[in-house]
Amino acid sequence: MWDEQLGLCALCREPMQRDDIDVDHKIPFSYGGGHERANLQLAHSCCNRSRRNSVAPRDLLRYLEDRYMNR
Ligand SMILES: [Zn+2]
Repeated sequence: MWDEQLGLCALCREPMQRDDIDVDHKIPFSYGGGHERANLQLAHSCCNRSRRNSVAPRDLLRYLEDRYMNR
């Protein structure tokens, strides 16, 4: 995941330190997001915390569509 994101935070796009990383769920649990790789990304722990349970409706819709199509 680190190499995939080139060491950049998925939320603010700034470089991350390896000791300041959180695994962020693109779609939070409370919206039905799962633990699968496609729903995970790396972010600063502070960015992850400030983001909490907010999610773009477009992303949520796409996620649910993918899940529906692939079941
Ligand atoms: Zn960040």
